[in-house]
Amino acid sequence: MTPVRDMMKAMVLERPKAPLVPREVPTPRAGPGQILLRVAACGVCRTDLHIADGELTEPKLPLILGHEIVGRAVEIGDGVEGVSPGDRVGVPWLGWTDGTCRYCKRGMENLCEHARFTGYTIDGGFAEYAVADARYAFRIPDAYDDLHAAPLLCAGLIGYRAYRMAGDARRIGLYGFGAAAHILAQVARHDGREVYALTRPGDAATQAFARRLGAVWAGNSTKRPPEPLDAAILFAPVGALVVEALKSVDRGGIVVCAGIHMSDVPSFPYAFLWQERAIRSVANLTREDGEQFMKTAARVLIETEATPFPLERANEALAAIREGEIEGAAVLAIAERGD
Ligand SMILES: [Zn+2]
Ligand SMILES: [Zn+2]
Repeated sequence: MTPVRDMMKAMVLERPKAPLVPREVPTPRAGPGQILLRVAACGVCRTDLHIADGELTEPKLPLILGHEIVGRAVEIGDGVEGVSPGDRVGVPWLGWTDGTCRYCKRGMENLCEHARFTGYTIDGGFAEYAVADARYAFRIPDAYDDLHAAPLLCAGLIGYRAYRMAGDARRIGLYGFGAAAHILAQVARHDGREVYALTRPGDAATQAFARRLGAVWAGNSTKRPPEPLDAAILFAPVGALVVEALKSVDRGGIVVCAGIHMSDVPSFPYAFLWQERAIRSVANLTREDGEQFMKTAARVLIETEATPFPLERANEALAAIREGEIEGAAVLAIAERGD
């Protein structure tokens, strides 16, 4: 393994609503409880776009985005157990919690009052190196190479948490068929569920992609699917789709909003909600979600579609997500193994 360099390349958000800037910055070091990773790959998520665009308003600045980090440990801080130099780990959005607030104590660390988030309130993985709290990093199943593992860490994980909130729904509608839905569709199908994909009107390419991944039906998000859904999960950040989804779920059905940011939800008649339909959001993840999802990923062998971009083209990757041009996930390919 090559020695850790003092300076590293990073794509830096210096202020919201401005492009990321390529910079040489000091390589961070592993403090107590932390590990320093040589970043191999880092997924690009819609949340990164919401941060860069200023829709999420409390980033640290300057900031290194990126919360789907796959890397190898190159430095181990004091007190870290269970991670050795050279081990491959994944770092997700949830980067730290206090462990003491009323949410943490009730097993809801995803709602922690003092939570810190990778690539938002702590520096993330759009860089050659990244530091992580070892307790919040996951082992990744060996079956996935670095590029294809990266989307598991947010698209997969948050999608999986949303899927758990959908309970034992047999017919599941996925609104917005991007990075998260393309992973979740494969898990749901493996579990014997029926997947209905709802995309931007007229997006035949994405509808065909969804059918290829096992969706029993794919169509426009403004239309009703052929059967009433037991649950709908929204990945598209469009509030109007909450109402469309509500109209498409059966009595007792649930609409799960999986995104961190969404445009306003328009008002709608109470009759749409009546008959014990429910709407809920999903926020962040817990470490238990991560561990369960990685076990699932080892069993299901999800075929992630990953479009690679070099680190210095992170702005293009963000633009491609904004335009809905990516089939599956965009991933920054940062280092070859052993580099
Ligand atoms: Zn807490
Ligand atoms: Zn994400």
